[in-house]
Amino acid sequence: NVVMIRQPTIAKQPANPSQRTEKASPEVAALISDKERRTYYEKGRFLGKGGFAHCYELTNRTTREVVAGKVVPKTMLVKQYQRDKMTQEVQIHRELSHKNIVKLIHFFEDSLNVYITLELCSRRSLMELHKRRKALTEPEARYFTHQVVEGVLYLHDLKIIHRDLKLGNLFLNDDLVVKIGDFGLATTVDGDERKTTLCGTPNYIAPEVLNKMGHSFEVDIWAVGCILYVLLFGQPPFGSKTIEEVYSRIRHNSYTIPSVASQPAAALIRKMLDPEPTRRPTARQVHRDIFFRSGFMPTRLPVSCLTMVPKFA
Ligand code: ADP
Repeated sequence: NVVMIRQPTIAKQPANPSQRTEKASPEVAALISDKERRTYYEKGRFLGKGGFAHCYELTNRTTREVVAGKVVPKTMLVKQYQRDKMTQEVQIHRELSHKNIVKLIHFFEDSLNVYITLELCSRRSLMELHKRRKALTEPEARYFTHQVVEGVLYLHDLKIIHRDLKLGNLFLNDDLVVKIGDFGLATTVDGDERKTTLCGTPNYIAPEVLNKMGHSFEVDIWAVGCILYVLLFGQPPFGSKTIEEVYSRIRHNSYTIPSVASQPAAALIRKMLDPEPTRRPTARQVHRDIFFRSGFMPTRLPVSCLTMVPKFA
């Protein structure tokens, strides 16, 4: 079930210096045209920025559908490896279709920028929720983590590893459904191949990546363990003052589970944060874990959860 697709290509930046911009913020027209599809988008409010992209709300002028538009200035894609990385990201992402994965709608360019239109996630990400709320209730952690696991299970079935699952890449739509996004570090796996390189710095980096032992799907399970931990306890398992200390704690598997944790939550976290990748549960095993059936599992959450502790009547 690995899909072959047309290679998206990114044209080189025009040589005309007047069209070149060195500043980080891209020049974005108020009306953006996707020439190939004869579609016009009205640029709306600014949604946020990442390493490469600035993101805006875009409204399809004909259908009035509102999407998120990631804009990457071509000046950021001068080097071949930069274009390759973006191509790889789009190639993996565009084939995905799942309720817990941000939908990539289209990919196009004009003379200045490359545009990626995405399913709009207007309730930001689990990062902002975490900053505001710190430790969530166990039903909320169960609700969010279960959706992350459903998305990861879909990816792993397609032989894709995300490799940078973190709160900031877990977007929320208006109904507080979790959508995994940002496939910038994702890769596909052939058979029982183990990856030896990873260009970038994952937030919840697994010990086998730090130790360059070769890595695979298990790195995503490690990250889900870190995510469940931070949702339940309000801080990351291996948090420390300096990045060196964080890495040292990861290498020594030095973390503790607060005593407030329920037994099923603590047991699942311990399994996912096993230093030995082969001992970690697969996405399917996590999906079936007793933790998700050991207490209340909300089918939806009210938007008031973004700021207040919910009362489950
Ligand atoms: P980069 O690949 O450059 O790191 P990101 O994917 O992190 O870019 O996106 C940058 C920012 O744009 C995010 O932090 C978020 O604020 C916003 N964003 C990205 N995707 C969406 C989306 N689907 N819906 C709403 N906002 C989004």
